[in-house]
Amino acid sequence: MRLYDTNRGGVFPLRDRAGDHDDPIRLYSCGITPYDATHLGQAATYLTFDLLARRLVDLGNRVDGVRNITDVDDGILARAAELGVHYLDLATEQLAVFDEDMAALDLIDVWREPRATGAIPDIRGYIARIERAGATYEVDGTVYFDTVAVNPRARFGTLSGLGDDELLASCAGDDAPSASKRHPLDFVLWKPSRVGEPSWESRWGSGRPGWHIECSALAQRELGGFIDVHGGGRDLLIPHHECAYIQAVVGDGSVIGHWLHRGLVHYQGLKMSKSLGNLVFVRDLRREYPASVIRLSLITEHYRDDFEWHPERLGLAAERVARWCGAGPGNAAVAEVRAALDDDLDVPSAISMIDDAVRAGHGVRAASALLGICPKD
Ligand SMILES: [Zn+2]
Repeated sequence: MRLYDTNRGGVFPLRDRAGDHDDPIRLYSCGITPYDATHLGQAATYLTFDLLARRLVDLGNRVDGVRNITDVDDGILARAAELGVHYLDLATEQLAVFDEDMAALDLIDVWREPRATGAIPDIRGYIARIERAGATYEVDGTVYFDTVAVNPRARFGTLSGLGDDELLASCAGDDAPSASKRHPLDFVLWKPSRVGEPSWESRWGSGRPGWHIECSALAQRELGGFIDVHGGGRDLLIPHHECAYIQAVVGDGSVIGHWLHRGLVHYQGLKMSKSLGNLVFVRDLRREYPASVIRLSLITEHYRDDFEWHPERLGLAAERVARWCGAGPGNAAVAEVRAALDDDLDVPSAISMIDDAVRAGHGVRAASALLGICPKD
């Protein structure tokens, strides 16, 4: 199977470990901050990873997937304060909704969901390794990653290939330039908690971790030194994955085989995002449409392409699901769909091959199951 790798800028083979169940294929998909229901942009990312995992299992591999849960960060703490609830109660409630959405969309069961608050000792240990490598400095209880100190061993911006000014355009909040930072692209590893916020003891003072280090510590703890695919939505590339990349080089030397970035979902002409308030939620669509219809409506384009969401997509997907499932059992187009998926998850080609087989009067139950549409029997 071949997959696009953001780091190398091309399509390269994945390591095949079919039949070797002691050595699974390791996937790390950047997970949610559980303070709101799952929107379609997030769902599209997890469906991309599900298509990948399905085909890897179909090929005979064991897949070990990790989807972290960021249950402590600025966003969830602000939302919990606004609602007057404990942030972990909010996380538990929203995580249950998210898991229900993912199960409804029929994601295969290869994903574990470790939580950031369950990894504080691992995070402190990871920061200490970066510190020993001489790549941190501390200002008033905040520990920063020193992006200049690690040059030329690891350059911030390696994954995207962009220069400092372009990178900075995508940095906001804690990642935005500030007077405390030696270099504007330096980022927070640990910071003091504000009054009322959760905090943990550390040798840098009591506080809480930055977001980027949570993923690196969890990926390392859960999956170890080689991760076949690490990824998420393309909006995570800068700075989140640039941070993860540089942290791994300095902190644990772990290697990522492929960096995967899913294109963005737009709605009303803008990226679907919490900050813009133009979200469409999986849970709301589930009241009106079967999950297989929602699923197909989100995977129709190639995963690396952005697409614009519009409600008519659901009607089109519903017609297609009815045609495919109505065509009855059969193995038509299976080989072609497998070949398309092996070519950088080419779902658009897979869909048109299934359409052709249905038009020719063949049953496509097995082929559509490779996309998670129509049960096999
Ligand atoms: Zn992450």
